Amino acid sequence: VNKVAKGVAKAGAEVKQAAVLGAGIMGGGIAYQSAFKGTPIIMKDIAQEGLDLGMKEAGKLLSKRVARGRMSPEKMAAILSSIEPTLHYQGFDRTDVVVEAVVENPKVKHSVLAETEKHIREDAVLASNTSTISITYLAEALQRPENFCGMHFFNPVHAMPLVEVIRGEKTSDATVARVVKYALQMGKTPIVVNDCPGFFVNRVLFPYFAGFNMLVRDGVDFRRIDKVMENFGMPMGPAYLMDVVGIDTCSHAAAVMAEGFPERMKHDFKGVSELMYEEKRFGQKNGLGFYKYE
Ligand code: NAD
Repeated sequence: VNKVAKGVAKAGAEVKQAAVLGAGIMGGGIAYQSAFKGTPIIMKDIAQEGLDLGMKEAGKLLSKRVARGRMSPEKMAAILSSIEPTLHYQGFDRTDVVVEAVVENPKVKHSVLAETEKHIREDAVLASNTSTISITYLAEALQRPENFCGMHFFNPVHAMPLVEVIRGEKTSDATVARVVKYALQMGKTPIVVNDCPGFFVNRVLFPYFAGFNMLVRDGVDFRRIDKVMENFGMPMGPAYLMDVVGIDTCSHAAAVMAEGFPERMKHDFKGVSELMYEEKRFGQKNGLGFYKYE
């Protein structure tokens, strides 16, 4: 895959300065990964606590490397200083690529993207880490939709190799090349996909979850399904995976998939994850999903 990506990236110039909007689970992870692999990054949030958490998370990951003797404390300090936290758009006129990773709300994303576009150079690229919102739709907020695409990371960012680079209707080849280049600089494995509900990964994952849902409805114990899938070679089974991702996130994405592909994904009964969402069993994030977490 990376051989193809390297071909695409040839047309893209090196990303010397990046920025990320949102310092949450994903934004913090993106900032860490970019800085760790040598691309300085500005991290913007609207809340100081968000920035503090993002910096703390990056510090924790780097400290682990230092403790294992895989990094010197000086190197750790240098990497941390290449993440610039800000509550404003300070330094955004220096950025080549800006990754948006704020809350999954179309209205908020539209306003954040439009505002950001005013603070970056005309040749800079904007990319959204949205999991479920159409890239073509998000681009409607922009004056330069050709400079915009999706850059979908997976959680936890430092550990998951795949990045989906999503081409919206107006995305230019140069934009795709730049973002693929940045993903490679971050040590990731980018794949370029067209804009559609679920992009590539969720389009494959959610029919798998739908199969799981049906088996549970038929009375098969979810623990047994997890075991069978682990024995098959999956790193974890579907129930455990939903707990890790978050039942609330899965439930929302399932609704998006059902709307996008009603003939395949819509059913007249509630799926297991919808029932669990109603019971507020959100998975690892609140200690109770399919499994219990201490
Ligand atoms: P999160 O709630 O952990 O973080 C969101 C951050 O955005 C918060 O720190 C918040 O203060 C900040 N924010 C809100 N409005 C802002 C604004 N106007 N400007 C700057 N910052 C702002 O959310 P998350 O889980 O990191 O998700 C972020 C995005 O990444 C979403 O679009 C989500 O769909 C996507 N995503 C999430 C996952 C995941 O597993 N969590 C995986 C892939 C993609």
